[in-house]
Amino acid sequence: MKCDWFEKWSTYSPNKLAVKNIESGLGYDYKSLNHGANAVANIFEKEYNLTKGDRLLVLADFDAEYVALLGVAQKMGIILVPINYRLSASEIAFLVQNSEPSLIIVAEEYRSLLNEVPKLLQEKVIAFSQYENWLTSASKEQTAEYTSKPLEETHPAFILYTSGTTGQPKGAIYTHGMMLWNSINTAIRLKISSDDIYLNVMPPFHTGGWNVLTAPILHFGGTLIMMPKFDSEKVLEALEKEEISISMLVPTMVRMLSESENFKQTDFSQLRYMIVGGEALPIPLIEQWNEQGVPIRQGYGLTECGPNITSLEAEDAIRKRGSIGFPNFYVDTKLMDENGVEAGPTEKGELWIKGPIVTPGYWKNPKETEKAIVDGWFKTGDILKKDEEGYLYVVDRIKNMYISGGENVYPAEVEKCILKHPEIKEVCVIGVPHEKWGEVGKAFVVFKNGRKEVSDITAYCIKHLAKYKVPKHFEVIEELPKNDTGKINRKLLS
Ligand code: ATP
Repeated sequence: MKCDWFEKWSTYSPNKLAVKNIESGLGYDYKSLNHGANAVANIFEKEYNLTKGDRLLVLADFDAEYVALLGVAQKMGIILVPINYRLSASEIAFLVQNSEPSLIIVAEEYRSLLNEVPKLLQEKVIAFSQYENWLTSASKEQTAEYTSKPLEETHPAFILYTSGTTGQPKGAIYTHGMMLWNSINTAIRLKISSDDIYLNVMPPFHTGGWNVLTAPILHFGGTLIMMPKFDSEKVLEALEKEEISISMLVPTMVRMLSESENFKQTDFSQLRYMIVGGEALPIPLIEQWNEQGVPIRQGYGLTECGPNITSLEAEDAIRKRGSIGFPNFYVDTKLMDENGVEAGPTEKGELWIKGPIVTPGYWKNPKETEKAIVDGWFKTGDILKKDEEGYLYVVDRIKNMYISGGENVYPAEVEKCILKHPEIKEVCVIGVPHEKWGEVGKAFVVFKNGRKEVSDITAYCIKHLAKYKVPKHFEVIEELPKNDTGKINRKLLS
């Protein structure tokens, strides 16, 4: 089947704004976006011999022109490999070696990041500005045509390298079928329509950038506003001025916006709700946004599955705060205990996922694929539980859990408790070796007011937690180490 969303929408609503750069104000309606993507597909095919299945590696900021590459991939069947521009040259060389691109597009400011790429591949590099010229000049002429290739649902659209917060990056294969069903799931649960205007602040190398809402919005003919570099003040301004109806943030961004001077004065009346995922959002923040009239819809997902797996309804934002809601429409889920048996209705268990949104595996990595997928079920490595009404809650990642005196401790539970202390801004708990107990907790805390003394925090924990869960060690730090999507980088804490 052909899968060319730009072509369809350029017929249905040619003059509708498809995507716009917030900084320059430069935008593309669906017709010009489609013509630009056609022209680029012709150049890639005729001048660079790119064919279906070839990889196109991209190292650039996520702007409107970058978005156009989705149309090129849908037309030609080439596979996009978005790369994190904050990695080192040697890390990037590993990803290049793993994905074996036929062409690399790089923005000038990131050119030096390719210094460790073998000489032979250097010849396959073109400047992002060159690509941009092809796209923009063709989109103005509005004449280019290209006959799209039929694509199977199993054909890869992207290779997305997971952020590696817990290990080496793995290239998750993201197929056209996954993109299709993820869009349908998202549209049903988040009520996406062509009237939606979505502000994207997430980077392109993270599934949150492409797949949480960017792809679904394009699938349903809505409008994308692209902000490549997150800036709290600019986000608040854009939410108001661009009449944004829906957006997606990670918890660190939510916190930064709430701390901004203009947060309380911002008019959020056009915003239907804010989607937050990637990590648990501290409850005081949910309440703060709700007071401003913005329901926070907690979502849960992962690169390898969708990513959108669950969502909490807006009306449950306060009543069920902390929950990630229910699984999406075309998603099968089950919670499994450590013996591979399905957990009881209110017992904790690892979340396993099946359905058309599950990855076929990791690129050139059969060993990791085999570990992750059993009989079509993807083992998420996340421990979840259900309440008596069936609402799901993330307990923690299995990898984060530690065992103290024979008892399992989930750091997320300890962190949630410590975060309720009014003077604490952020906290991260890890397990560290201990002679008597095997492991004990160590809490890294960031205070709101710069204080250094923690004795009352221990007393606070003793009051609210079982003794074995109370961290034995505390360290006050100024800031927690985070990755590019704002997730705490636990590997850097010890
Ligand atoms: P890596 O797997 O390499 O460590 P990563 O986990 O950051 O990278 P992603 O696919 O970006 O890769 O993140 C998915 C994970 O994020 C989930 O498996 C889960 O642990 C966590 N997560 C996502 N949404 C939530 C949420 N709402 N609450 C708690 N955790 C969440």
